[in-house]
Amino acid sequence: MSYDKAVELTAKLSLEEKVAFLTGFDFWNTVPNDKIGLRKLLLSDGPAGVRGEFWDERDNSLNLPSGTALGSTWSIEFAAEYGRVLAREAARKGVDVVLGPTINLHRTPLGGRHFECLSEDAMLTGALAANYTKGMQSLGKGACPKHYVANDFETDRYNVDIRVDERTLNELYLRPFEDAVVDGKAWTIMSSYNQVNGTTLTENDLLQDPLRSKWNFDGVVISDWTAVRTLESAKAEQDLVMPGPVGPWGDALIAAVKNGEIDEATIDRKITRLLVLAERVGAIGKDGKTPADPARSNEIPAEGVAFARKAAVEGSVLLENDGILPINLKEAGKVALIGHNANAARTQGGGSATVMPKTVVTPLDALKAELGTNVRYSIGAVVQVGVAELPQHSLRNPHTNNPGVHVEFLDENDKVTYVEERLGSNLLWLGAMDVPIPTTSKLKLSTVYTPTETSEELFGYGTVQPTKIFFDGELFLDKHLPIDTDDPFAPLMDPPFATKKYTFEVGKPVRIDIEVDWRGRSGLQSAAQNFIFGIEADAALGDKNIADAVAAAKQSDVAIVVVGTNSKVESEGLDRKNLDLPGRQNELVEAVVAANPNTIVVVNSGSPVILPWRHKVRAVLLTYFGGQEMGNALVDVLTGAEEPGGRLPTTWADKFEDVPVTNCDATQPGNYVAYEEGIHIGYRAWLKHNLKPAYEFGYGLGYTTWSIDSIEAPANLGTGESFTAKVKVTNTGSRKGKHVVQIYASRKDSAIDRPVRWLVGFSEVHANAGESKDVSINIKGREFANYDNGWNYEAGTFQLHAASSVNKLEAETSVTLS
Ligand code: BGC
Repeated sequence: MSYDKAVELTAKLSLEEKVAFLTGFDFWNTVPNDKIGLRKLLLSDGPAGVRGEFWDERDNSLNLPSGTALGSTWSIEFAAEYGRVLAREAARKGVDVVLGPTINLHRTPLGGRHFECLSEDAMLTGALAANYTKGMQSLGKGACPKHYVANDFETDRYNVDIRVDERTLNELYLRPFEDAVVDGKAWTIMSSYNQVNGTTLTENDLLQDPLRSKWNFDGVVISDWTAVRTLESAKAEQDLVMPGPVGPWGDALIAAVKNGEIDEATIDRKITRLLVLAERVGAIGKDGKTPADPARSNEIPAEGVAFARKAAVEGSVLLENDGILPINLKEAGKVALIGHNANAARTQGGGSATVMPKTVVTPLDALKAELGTNVRYSIGAVVQVGVAELPQHSLRNPHTNNPGVHVEFLDENDKVTYVEERLGSNLLWLGAMDVPIPTTSKLKLSTVYTPTETSEELFGYGTVQPTKIFFDGELFLDKHLPIDTDDPFAPLMDPPFATKKYTFEVGKPVRIDIEVDWRGRSGLQSAAQNFIFGIEADAALGDKNIADAVAAAKQSDVAIVVVGTNSKVESEGLDRKNLDLPGRQNELVEAVVAANPNTIVVVNSGSPVILPWRHKVRAVLLTYFGGQEMGNALVDVLTGAEEPGGRLPTTWADKFEDVPVTNCDATQPGNYVAYEEGIHIGYRAWLKHNLKPAYEFGYGLGYTTWSIDSIEAPANLGTGESFTAKVKVTNTGSRKGKHVVQIYASRKDSAIDRPVRWLVGFSEVHANAGESKDVSINIKGREFANYDNGWNYEAGTFQLHAASSVNKLEAETSVTLS
């Protein structure tokens, strides 16, 4: 639809209809209007899968590797394919706009949503974001780059004020959004919860300048969920308030237009943009008739699963390898597979990015499939914190006799008003329209749990609502665990939990009845709820766990230890306090390697962790939160069926004390965090302070070796002029492989405070053993500009370094700008 046509349709709507359209219809949908042939638009998280309208284990989604894994591919083609695969998922789930990519920066590795974001470098983030967006939108689904802007950590994310200077904001934090809008042509973006320089983003002038004024953004600004808190924001360039149906605009906005406080033209602009979006995603009938809601299918296509496996391979980064990898596992003898995450694999981080995969291939599953009884598993050290859901196959619904859990919703008169037959024990209701969340006073769950072994376990639940658990009719646990936070999502995403010991007997069914008191809820809690019940891993068994793992390692030819984090350590809604692996995992690795020097460590975390034993083991492979095919991809990489394709998009520290930027403590007086480090984050800060990390930005090994032989670029250029650099690369090893050629710029004798060097271009290259390739890399003129009341160019000579990482510079040339 042309903009003019949208204006025409806008004119057909009454003020009331227009204002209704500006707040969500419900948690995930926008308001329909038959008068202009407009159906609801369904918006859904994002960014590493498409959850769809329901947060429900019966409604499955493809679970792709985390943003950090995508960042590690350094591949714009791959980012575009990642976008296209998600667009197909969106189509399958009737979704119009996917709430992703998450393109805040890895300012500090402590950031709880680090795993969701792509890189510490703004240019790399921007290039991948633009291509993710293009790929997705090429198939008719809207991308929603988020969260605009400077939402780089979680502590008090709802209120914190980010104090950041203009230069830093423009060169770093706005840059990925600029690329997603200007190059990627994003149809929407999401405004964040936080403030920047004293104004909350949903009211901030940054929505106008640079977003609309300089980048010509013609799309819709969607608020982060509940980020719009005032009527004032309606005056700003904020378009859509999510979720609905209740919000701060509504009647107050109608009144404000009627009494002249807000101009109706301001409303019209928002509506016009929404209608353009509706047309882009096919939600508005060309013939004036409202299109039907898109058909949905619950079949995840095999190509999607194959892509998840490929993405996990491409995103894995080989950090250490003394030659043990690739390894022919079938001929390697006995393999000890150790680690909680080898079995309870973290395929995704916690929070709104969560999707419900139908199948997950853990490292244990995949290694068993490869090696059968030659693999021996032991937990080694407990990683999971809190209650983990029970295996679905161990639950029987006493009402239907099918697998699962029977759930009843009771009103204040104890009358059952709604029933669900669920499959698992981790339940979340967020925008499930038919479910009477607001009017429910009590939730009753019942299931029959059949343990697969005899063991004493910590059994319990997680929620902020008062809960009683009965085992075979007898009261087992009775608790109320409220939490104190402003973040409306914290009780849903990270509820407190309580557990108590119980001895289960193998094969002996236990009837479990649970009552959850839902009275007295307010705010988001009255519209959304969660409940999990299950088993907490018992960290008190630590010595025995390590001893068992050591015994297994001793009796094996190779030990593979999978270490990692969990969804309580890396999640939306919280930041980390340090970069340690949780629990006794470091002790575990030391003990295993002492028992068997043939130890390979797999790191299953979404963001950097400290690896103190990294030089003692034979190989270290980083798989991130590798998505649902993580186990298969791991076997592909270990055996050499595939080469690990990743290079670090973020610096990994040797010691936490070295990390240059750690300040994300928003709890200080004034409730602000000053980005005092300015433009020096990530590798720029490591270089400035002359610090040596464990693994630098851009680093990663493959199964072959490379040399970068030369770089050529035009000697003289006009300021702001883009150009192509030519880099000659040779595969000096004995098998075909992938390399990532990186180009950094540096400037001697600059009048401006600049990074020691900074990324200006990159390209992946594939070559056969012994083959040389000429790689052309486009470099934007803007990479040499600095922001000073607008983009400013310092004339003179810049060095260009062709490199295999930020610290491995291999060829050099220069360009002179005049
Ligand atoms: C998150 C967003 C997400 C939204 C909807 C918010 O809490 O910050 O990233 O898209 O919830 O789930």
